[in-house]
Amino acid sequence: MKYKKFVDKYVVRLERGEEVINSLTNLCKENEIKLGRVTGIGATNKVTIGLFNTESKEYHSKDLTGDMEITNLSGNITSMDEEVYLHLHITVCDKNNKAYGGHLNSAVISATCEMIIDVIDGNVGRRHDEEIGLNLFKFNEDSIESIH
Ligand code: FE
Repeated sequence: MKYKKFVDKYVVRLERGEEVINSLTNLCKENEIKLGRVTGIGATNKVTIGLFNTESKEYHSKDLTGDMEITNLSGNITSMDEEVYLHLHITVCDKNNKAYGGHLNSAVISATCEMIIDVIDGNVGRRHDEEIGLNLFKFNEDSIESIH
C-alpha cells in the first residue's frame, strides 16, 4: 500500500495481492483515523460479499473469483470498543459487464485499487442493536440531534 496525505484526505494505492479490509484497517490504525468516508475503484479477482437477512439477522456471504472491475467501493470508518470498525459495500462487474454487489467482507486486489479517504475530525462509535441485529452508529449522548 502506498498513500499520501493532503490536509484531511488520504489518497491510497493498493498493490496486487493486497486485501482491502486488512490494508484499510492498518492504515487507520497507523494514522489514528477514527472517523471518515471511503471511496474507491480498482480491480479484484477474489471477493467475498454478503447480504444481511433481516429476519434471521445473519449475513449470508458469497465468494466470487475471476477478473472483476471494482466499479464502486464505498463506506465509512468508525470505531467500536476502541477498535477500527469499517463498514464497506462494493459493486464489481465481470467480463460480461454484469454487476454484483453487497456488503464487503474481503477483496483481494488483482491490479490496483485507488481509494480516497475523507477524514472527519471526531468520533462515532458502534453499539449492537438487538432488534436490528447490527452494530449501529452510537453517538455521544450529549451532542446528539434527532428528528422524528
Ligand atoms: Fe453492510
